[in-house]
Amino acid sequence: MNDTAALTTRLSEFLALQNHKHFIHGAYQSGSTDQQIAVINSATEDVIGRVSLGSADDVDAAVASALKAFHHASPWRRMSPDDRGKILYRYADLIEEHTETIAQLVTLENGKLIKDSRSSDAGGAAKTFRYYAGWTTKIEGETLDLSQPQKGGKQNFALTRREPIGVVAAVVPWNFPVSIASWKVAPALAAGCTVVLKPSEETPLSALLLAELAIEAGLPPGVLNVVTGDGATTGAALTSHPDVKKITFTGSTHTGKLIGKAAMENITGVSLELGGKSPAVVFDDMIDQAETAKGIAAGIFRNQGQVCVAGSRVYIQKKSFDRVLTDICHAGESMKISHGFDETADLGPLVSKSHLQTVQAYIDQGKKDGAQLLSGGRNPMEKGYYMQPTVFSATDHQQTIIEEEIFGPVLVAVPFDDLEDALEKANDSSMGLAATVWTQDISKAMTMINRLQAGVVYVNSPVRSDPNLPLGGYKHSGIGRELGKTGVYNYTTLKSVNIVF
Ligand code: NAD
Repeated sequence: MNDTAALTTRLSEFLALQNHKHFIHGAYQSGSTDQQIAVINSATEDVIGRVSLGSADDVDAAVASALKAFHHASPWRRMSPDDRGKILYRYADLIEEHTETIAQLVTLENGKLIKDSRSSDAGGAAKTFRYYAGWTTKIEGETLDLSQPQKGGKQNFALTRREPIGVVAAVVPWNFPVSIASWKVAPALAAGCTVVLKPSEETPLSALLLAELAIEAGLPPGVLNVVTGDGATTGAALTSHPDVKKITFTGSTHTGKLIGKAAMENITGVSLELGGKSPAVVFDDMIDQAETAKGIAAGIFRNQGQVCVAGSRVYIQKKSFDRVLTDICHAGESMKISHGFDETADLGPLVSKSHLQTVQAYIDQGKKDGAQLLSGGRNPMEKGYYMQPTVFSATDHQQTIIEEEIFGPVLVAVPFDDLEDALEKANDSSMGLAATVWTQDISKAMTMINRLQAGVVYVNSPVRSDPNLPLGGYKHSGIGRELGKTGVYNYTTLKSVNIVF
């Protein structure tokens, strides 16, 4: 498969199936058509398995299963929050126990480094399930004093209660296939909902493995279903299904707009976690030049730049511009590029051939538009979809590589004069997912925090997700927030009650 370490027995058995089915009502089920999608190892370009391309009928079957599991008399709905929590704790433990199997599978289907698959995907998912296991017993409404007296001077008692919203459609991308799935599935289950998960066609296998583990953890059949397939057929059928009560989507802004429209056809609740073009702003008074450059490099090159919150535009104050940029280029150039199973690698292949072509086209466009290529810019390997850490320097702010999300290891650096200039440039974007600020002046940092148009702001650190920190975007980066308390309340609906006596 690569110069890989030995695959775990469980993964070898899983891959030996070769043709993978949907996971519906607690078991594998064949698709209603013979259509399949090949899953490719992006380091070797080998096919590692095939999944069914889910039809509208397959989606119907999965939604029907989720609806049945959501019936008020079902085992899931009758379960106490405490017991629901116990299952989620078990699920978290099982994910942790199977870290190596999950990580190897994610590296095979996505290409990413095994150390990242272990920590971000398997590890991240275990932490997210454990975090939300604790939330099952903490969902609460409010008691309210009404603003008007009751007719006839009667007494009253007004309250709100939060109820699980119903069947949830979770549509996820390929960049963190397991952890992003967990950001949706864990809070939805904690709230008492049932889920149909549609993984990306690039990375569908790890979602099937997650569904197997859910059953082993004790989740009743139908509570978590997985339908594999593409966006145009499977994803569209799921997000336009009338029995779905909430769509939670992470992916590109383009797809998010389509899903938002489909959701409104059925007045389905929707949250959209979309693309980013996040700025990093480096002031002359940064704490430490080497640490700052390392942080900026990590913020863009981690996971091959395929990170929604990647800091892909760096604004550096003029006096420091050349020296910080030299350090960033150096950090990129010293990264070891290799296949995902190389434990010493710093950068693996991109997810697919077509994605590599997209990233390469942006680099070519940058050169054409007059940005100066300082470092990287090509695939250094003969086989596999690799891209070097790439750094551009630009003075003209109006150009494609500064405006559009590239979703690869490509950074554009632009100088700025002062705080106002930095804010103007950083906010001059249709996106607003994240931003980082690098300074030792706390009052400057506070001004930036207050005025940056971004859903997440980190100071003196690249952005890292955390189960207790809400994530989401301003502007075209999305609607709604996931993770944290908000994350679980996404999957509830509010009932207002007034008892008059
Ligand atoms: P994508 O939009 O192409 O696909 C995402 C998912 O949507 C896939 O499962 C795909 O099959 C499905 N899909 C595609 N068309 C659909 C349709 N018409 N109806 C329903 N489903 C459809 O995105 P991608 O290339 O997989 O992922 C990369 C994008 O995800 C980037 O833009 C990145 O910024 C974004 N992202 C955002 C966050 C965040 O938290 N904001 C996190 C990770 C990735």
